[in-house]
Amino acid sequence: MPDAASSPLAPGSTIGILGGGQLGRMLALAAARLGLDVVILTPDEDSPASRVVKQTFVGAYDDPAALADFARASDAITYEFENVPAAAVEALIGLGARVAPGPKALAAAQDRVAEKQFLASVGVATVDFAPIETADEIPEACRTLGHPALLKTRREGYDGKGQIWIEKQADEAGALAAIGGKPAILEARARFTRELSVIAARGADGEIAIYPLGENHHEGGVLRRTTAPASADKATLEQAERIAAQIMAGLDYVGVIGVELFQLEDGQLLVNEIAPRVHNTGHWTQDGCAVDQFEQHIRAVAGWPLGSTLALARVEMINLLGEEAAGWAKLAADPDARVHLYGKREMIPGRKMGHVNRMRGPV
Ligand code: AMP
Repeated sequence: MPDAASSPLAPGSTIGILGGGQLGRMLALAAARLGLDVVILTPDEDSPASRVVKQTFVGAYDDPAALADFARASDAITYEFENVPAAAVEALIGLGARVAPGPKALAAAQDRVAEKQFLASVGVATVDFAPIETADEIPEACRTLGHPALLKTRREGYDGKGQIWIEKQADEAGALAAIGGKPAILEARARFTRELSVIAARGADGEIAIYPLGENHHEGGVLRRTTAPASADKATLEQAERIAAQIMAGLDYVGVIGVELFQLEDGQLLVNEIAPRVHNTGHWTQDGCAVDQFEQHIRAVAGWPLGSTLALARVEMINLLGEEAAGWAKLAADPDARVHLYGKREMIPGRKMGHVNRMRGPV
């Protein structure tokens, strides 16, 4: 028997989402298909998600009154980005809210050192690394990890921001200041042959579902495109499934998770990072899979049975960055292109404005 904390929410119930970006918007659209309403809490007056949800609570994530109103309106709560303050999630839990994924996942995803330590604790391999508090620790860490090495802020880095390559000894002194002087992590360079990701889900009852792998191409630290299902031998698929299962079990996870992987020449997979949410590299599932990652996440959060992750088509997902979204009319006229636009008002260079799923034939 499911307990009250994980029993399925009936249609007509309300899912609360922290955050108002495109992921929140696509989660809300998926929830609507299942007869569930969505409310969001976001500091922004006019967000991509706010235009498709039942109600927007505009307030800071650490505003106790806003959190209380939001919790009262929600039967279950989730988040669309991993940098929501951990204190906000704790406050919501304190108010009796059902929150998924839980605080363990948030803690592991918010700090790159804690993330790698967690991964090691569940037997999942990453690149070698060293925590860096002060600039004078960098030379010794570079002796161990070698050049080039990648210095990243421990917290709040995304899309390649807050990162700098240390190519040679002369780069060591200024590197920490160049990324803002905050606590950092130095990572050995992964000599990967390709970047993959596995999108997976775990239900409130511990059931798991894993999507086929995506192969990802980044430009300037930002995801450019994903092709899926990626060609992969049995050993690679088994490794990826084991990694996803171990991470989700270790985090008592409920919801969809994105796990970014490096594949090395010998086939071994290393985890780059985990995102405790729906993931840009899983957008292909909207047009490629029986049940997409957004519906899957809502199902998990609402305590519903997970849906089928079966791939029905090969898809190339291409992000529309900045002005590229101005090409929407041409894309809309292309019978092989499924256009997804996020309703962002301003086309800032490099900003994720939408994506297109190009249908590449049957699997
Ligand atoms: P991240 O913000 O950690 O996802 O990094 C963004 C991108 O930088 C990754 O998708 C990789 O292309 C590259 N990258 C990150 N960490 C490493 C590493 N340790 N070695 C080589 N490339 C990396």
